[in-house]
Amino acid sequence: MVLVYAEAQDGKVKKSALEVTYFGAKLAESLNTTCAAIILGSAEDGGKLGSYGAKEVFQINDPKLDHFDTQVVSKIIADVVKEKQATCVLMADSANGKSLLGRLSVILNGGAVRGVNALPQMKDGSLHADRGVFSGKAFVTCKVNTSIAVLSIAGNSIKPQIIGSDVAVSSMSVNIPESKTKVVDVKRTVGIVPLPEAEVVVSAGRGLKDPANWGIVEDLAKALGATTACSRPVADSGWRPHHEHVGQTGIAIRPNLYIAIGISGAIQHLAGVNSSKVIVVINKDPEAPFFKAADYGVVGDLFEVVPKLTEAIQKFKTAQH
Ligand SMILES: Cc1cc2nc3c(=O)[nH]c(=O)nc-3n(C[C@H](O)[C@H](O)[C@H](O)COP(=O)(O)OP(=O)(O)OC[C@H]3O[C@@H](n4cnc5c(N)ncnc54)[C@H](O)[C@@H]3O)c2cc1C
Repeated sequence: MVLVYAEAQDGKVKKSALEVTYFGAKLAESLNTTCAAIILGSAEDGGKLGSYGAKEVFQINDPKLDHFDTQVVSKIIADVVKEKQATCVLMADSANGKSLLGRLSVILNGGAVRGVNALPQMKDGSLHADRGVFSGKAFVTCKVNTSIAVLSIAGNSIKPQIIGSDVAVSSMSVNIPESKTKVVDVKRTVGIVPLPEAEVVVSAGRGLKDPANWGIVEDLAKALGATTACSRPVADSGWRPHHEHVGQTGIAIRPNLYIAIGISGAIQHLAGVNSSKVIVVINKDPEAPFFKAADYGVVGDLFEVVPKLTEAIQKFKTAQH
């Protein structure tokens, strides 16, 4: 069996859970087995994982699981893997997934591969999984030498599709270990999709000249329902908060659309964004290195181009309604 750890938040399964479930279903099909998913905590829509290929969906719902704790979650998932005799455990390559991967593989004595970006293949009785290395500059194929494989799946590796129908969620009861820490307070930014989960990102660099000019970036982001990001010097200068800094030393993202405004495209910046599905670059310098990585490029003054783009998007959206 392929077991998927499906992340949930605010009572709903995350988009990444749909992707990993579909990935798990395709992997299970190639291995001639079935895919099941497990949700820890509350999620009223867990049954829809069936539509993305899970034959069974299990749920352990307990207030002790309201906040993700790797030590607790890894022990629970390991127990479920043993009970269900799963041979592959899949999770999203998210912050939680990455922290779970290592612990789980130690408990299960399983081979761990982080950031798998294509369906693994079974060759000579061993699972072979591909992943990007050096910020996506190269790819390696890892052979899993153990009977259990623990894999985190890079976002956007597969486009989830409906291949089944919703299933009834079975609730499971397991021994939940006591957490060694307690979350006493949570302060959340409301209304903004966190960068690692954003499908559309509008990002800007030093070309903006002054933080006072950021309004045009925010207007475009608002028109597109996008999350904002920035280059490192912009965060270092205090123009934008550090949690918006993307790149080698910032957050690595894989949105469907990345719009880079007044960013030169230095290798350290590209390292964190070059896995985006579509890259649009707006820069006045036709020689800016970012154009080499762009799917679409606009050579022009951002102070003219960006407001026009925002206006065109707003007009388009109004016409749609
Ligand atoms: C170890 C190390 C790690 C690093 N990690 C990161 C990282 O994680 N993320 C990161 O971003 N950087 C990182 N850097 C810095 C990186 O090397 C670059 O210096 C940085 O990305 C440049 O930021 P920028 O593109 O905003 O600024 P600049 O290089 O100054 O580029 C500004 C761009 O704006 C364009 N521009 C100017 N005015 C206009 C206008 N009116 N209209 C249109 N375009 C205009 C210019 O043509 C230029 O291309 C790192 C560097 C090192 C050494």
